Amino acid sequence: MLAAMAHYRITRTIIAATLFLPSVILAQLEPDTAQVNLYFPQLADGGDQAQTWQTSFVFTNSNPAMPVACMLSTLNDSGGPLALDLGTGLQSRQSFTIPPLGRKTLRSLMASRSVVTGWAYAACSLPVQGTVLFRQIVNGVPQVEISAPASLPSPIYRSAANRSLGVALVNVYNRPVTITLQAFDSAGNQVGSRDFALCALCHASFNLSSFSGNFPRDFEGMAVLSGSEPSTVFSAWTLNAERGLLSSLPSGGVSWPGGHEDKIWRAYFKVLAAAAQIMPEVDLSSTRLDIQYSSEINAFATKNDGTIHVTLALAELIADSPSELASVIAHELGHIVQFKTGKLTYNTSNAELDADAAGMIFSLAAGYDPYASAGAMGKLMMITNRTDLFSQAFDNLRDPHTSFSNRMGVLFATLQLACSLPAGQSACAQYRNAIHPSFPPTIPLALPRPNK
Ligand SMILES: [Zn+2]
Repeated sequence: MLAAMAHYRITRTIIAATLFLPSVILAQLEPDTAQVNLYFPQLADGGDQAQTWQTSFVFTNSNPAMPVACMLSTLNDSGGPLALDLGTGLQSRQSFTIPPLGRKTLRSLMASRSVVTGWAYAACSLPVQGTVLFRQIVNGVPQVEISAPASLPSPIYRSAANRSLGVALVNVYNRPVTITLQAFDSAGNQVGSRDFALCALCHASFNLSSFSGNFPRDFEGMAVLSGSEPSTVFSAWTLNAERGLLSSLPSGGVSWPGGHEDKIWRAYFKVLAAAAQIMPEVDLSSTRLDIQYSSEINAFATKNDGTIHVTLALAELIADSPSELASVIAHELGHIVQFKTGKLTYNTSNAELDADAAGMIFSLAAGYDPYASAGAMGKLMMITNRTDLFSQAFDNLRDPHTSFSNRMGVLFATLQLACSLPAGQSACAQYRNAIHPSFPPTIPLALPRPNK
């Protein structure tokens, strides 16, 4: 069945001189919790002398080479802008840059005479870690400080719970959604349920005890939040409270399959930054990402507006592996580079193989596993026998159904060549030592260790 795919004629013309990699690849690995889209499901600020809340945002950039640009938006409970004075006057949007390995703290001046609540969202150009802190101050004396880490929207959220549990919910859509909270006792029996209708971008925060009719007085068990549709995601946060004492709880969101859009953005910015580092002579600053709510499995790049288009259906096929997702986006970025330069860089006779090679180099430099390009192509091959599932125009390829196995072979050859060149050797060896230490020594990214 797959043998029929062998007729596609592959070309191995690779221009060695342009194959170079940054010398520090692992430097671009960042903490799991670092994201380019950061959702803070709760904040509290202001108040009178008897009780004041102070909000602080803390961001850290774990990238040792590149600065990160961020835009922080604060929103009120109704989804509108929430102006906070974080040191530069009352504003609902703050722009800032964090230097490599740097930190940015934005601390409120507690300008409001009454307590305001809401949520916040930060959009950054590379993954950063972010936390919001809210400090309770009574008659000028700090009493307690609560932290809520940035989290990705999730289709389900589970938390240990009692009647005093604090819950914050955010609707991340521009349309109303309903979120259901179910309570289960210690034996796993459902003991209560309540729906929350949230308007567009709206925020709600409450204690379970405020719904005494829905939940038993001595309730102790688990709270499960879920969207009205299985694919509805929302941002949530819970806080344990008992006899006036507050303590943090682990994040109860699921990382899979939720948050595809955020995963696409994360991979996009990482490969874009890597490409800009590898090819500083190519201006990629006007490159755009377009995520399409489409059931068509497709990704493509458009020349006129320099935009990479990715459908959610494609992301759902490959988003369980960040490296597979990055390989497809990086391939499309390879086409953007072709548009910008008006030529092919890595393979002078075939635009697809050139984009494959460029994408693999960008993925590797961004800290992703370059072997994942084969994983993504394998999944695409798997569905090509159902042409009704697969876009005939996938990536603008005339005959995508026959090309994937050959493209994998060329990718392997490109990797082999990149790692054999002096410029690529230290990067490949560094990557291999950390990522693939058990690989046999004769394949790409498995060069002999120096001094051994
Ligand atoms: Zn292509």
